[in-house]
Amino acid sequence: MIRKKVDELNNWTYKELAEIYGIYDYKAYDKEITRFSLIGSPAESASERFKKLDNKLYDDILKEVGIYEKKYYTNSIMVDEESPLTAHEKIMYEQQFHSYLNAGIITHIWNAGIPKNGDYRSLAEYFIKLCKHTDIRYFTVSNIIVYCEECKKSYIGSKNETKCKYCGNEDIEMYSKITGYTQRVSGWNDGKLCEFKRRNEFKL
Ligand SMILES: [Zn+2]
Repeated sequence: MIRKKVDELNNWTYKELAEIYGIYDYKAYDKEITRFSLIGSPAESASERFKKLDNKLYDDILKEVGIYEKKYYTNSIMVDEESPLTAHEKIMYEQQFHSYLNAGIITHIWNAGIPKNGDYRSLAEYFIKLCKHTDIRYFTVSNIIVYCEECKKSYIGSKNETKCKYCGNEDIEMYSKITGYTQRVSGWNDGKLCEFKRRNEFKL
């Protein structure tokens, strides 16, 4: 789990990051008889639990680096949810690490809504280019779906939604991807709820 802001990460080399993940000598290991797989883990509970434990043990350090209040560690190769990146910059940064892991790796484009002017064709062409010309293996546009308990309508909304855009009722439920799959947000643990609130909204 990487807990550094992206501007700090940009100064790290592949070697340093590979050492963090224990894959520094990956190519050498691959020649050995014993094979192994490296997977990215969702760690919905662990990312919160480890942070709670570290807050007790290392509160001074975490306050110094400015992440004491953050209730979780950001998963896997993902950049911090508040990092000031465009969707393209986030994809291009994270895709560099996809080839290091055999499974479980995912890049989220959070809360992007629908493409500008409803131009799905251009978006599809862009995604095809990504698949052809980058190392990205698995990516997803992870929108927030708002469901109204009153009028029973659903729509793509924002994390700040407080009432149904159709009938104005406040009895709404939000659904989003906790990691790789969609869940009711109100059922998430404190760490993931904190992450949900911190997730930037991207434009496509
Ligand atoms: Zn409604």
